[in-house]
Amino acid sequence: MNGVNGVKAPKPVFPAEAASKEYAASLDAADPLRELRDQFIIPSKANLETKKLAKPGLSEDLSIYFCGNSLGLQPKAVAKYMEAQLDTWASMGVRGHFNALEDSPLKEWQLLSEQAAASMAKMVGAAPEEVAAMGTLTMNLHCLLASFYKPSETKRKILMDWKAFPSDHYAIESHIAWHGLCSKENMVLIGPDEGEYEISTEKILGYIDKHASDAALILLPGIQYYTGQLFDMPRITKYAQERGLTVGWDLAHAYGNVELKMHEWNVDFAAWCTYKYGNAGPGAMGGIYVHEKHGKVDDSAGDDALKFRHRLTGWYGGDRSVRFKMDNKFKPIPGAGGFQVSNPSVIDLTTLCASLSVFDQTSIPALRQKSLSLTAYLEHLLLKDTTDKTRQFTIITPSDPHARGAQLSLLLKPGLLHTVSQRLQDAGIICDKREPDVVRVAPVPLYNTFSEVWKFVEVLKGALGEGAASS
Ligand SMILES: *Cc1c(COP(=O)(O)O)cnc(C)c1O
Repeated sequence: MNGVNGVKAPKPVFPAEAASKEYAASLDAADPLRELRDQFIIPSKANLETKKLAKPGLSEDLSIYFCGNSLGLQPKAVAKYMEAQLDTWASMGVRGHFNALEDSPLKEWQLLSEQAAASMAKMVGAAPEEVAAMGTLTMNLHCLLASFYKPSETKRKILMDWKAFPSDHYAIESHIAWHGLCSKENMVLIGPDEGEYEISTEKILGYIDKHASDAALILLPGIQYYTGQLFDMPRITKYAQERGLTVGWDLAHAYGNVELKMHEWNVDFAAWCTYKYGNAGPGAMGGIYVHEKHGKVDDSAGDDALKFRHRLTGWYGGDRSVRFKMDNKFKPIPGAGGFQVSNPSVIDLTTLCASLSVFDQTSIPALRQKSLSLTAYLEHLLLKDTTDKTRQFTIITPSDPHARGAQLSLLLKPGLLHTVSQRLQDAGIICDKREPDVVRVAPVPLYNTFSEVWKFVEVLKGALGEGAASS
């Protein structure tokens, strides 16, 4: 059984009239977070068709954007923050490193990554010092693996997801090879039972037991990108650590989506990108988490090698007090900041800070609460009036709300994907298809509505010949 500590979450019960458009509208009217949608630019259908510049907010003809699991929408704050940053650069040049313009929502450049880290820390459940804004996800995984994957004679395997996002797969594969080891022998792929999609927590714990003596590390996605399964991070972390494994989580699909408590769960390290549910823009700057205990700097230790945990170093991991001394004596910033390498892109930090300014107005628990309702409503309408036998698709995302985030992945009967995507596209609905047969649908609590969910199901059922969501 999945869910947090093996407990399944209760399912909301919807009344008979839940399939009506008016009911969806009533859920929107009662939504305490409904005004956050106004802070985003939603592409209009006309813009998508003509490929001409969007006139944000003017169109009555908005698309339905259910693709925040892949690339979140642009917060209006981005333009404002970018303008402030360009003004700072224009008016101060190099002095912007240590000065910010009056009225700018952004700190001086030397403190900007800390500004982003402070907001991200709340989202992943960590102390501000345990989080750094830097680099991009795969590069950050490389840096973290360099520090945390320490294969020994006996313990050298890495336990991972059987269908890890390819970039994670390559990163792990290359690290094992980098150590001169055979990647095939040392990658242990954890998959579901034959014919299933959901990987039970028991199954994962079973792999950990089996490899307690020969595995060095386990690196899993907090949420699996394809199925949308949310893993029981606290339970898996504890279990693996008790058996001598280092534990890392890839939070690409979990960041900005579900509640995370990295510190409380005692996770060793984690990394995420910020352009999916985080809305910081395509290829935006990523984030890392390093548990406090791994970021300690012990100045009293005699030997340089013992003063701090080994990592791949660069000058921006160096303490600000000595960063500009240029004396080649590396003294890391205590905490995750000490894992930074380069002078970060201030432009990237600006879009990141802008996107975080929206999250700062609410909280992940509040967003999660709405997300649970949105996704439950989507599931309810999808399954209503059909049975497993008559339905043209299977939901391969776990049905337990505690074992998933915003996304539902629909596995269509063979041959339907093309027609379905065309019909969705014609109706101005943007969601993500994965060949051969999967459509991933992610209603995002920051900017999606219950009415959009209703409309989506109506169009989908029309395309599948299952009739409308309601009469
Ligand atoms: C989106 C995603 C990535 C993308 O990595 P980048 O380095 O940002 O290109 C990597 N891993 C997972 C699990 C993802 O979901």
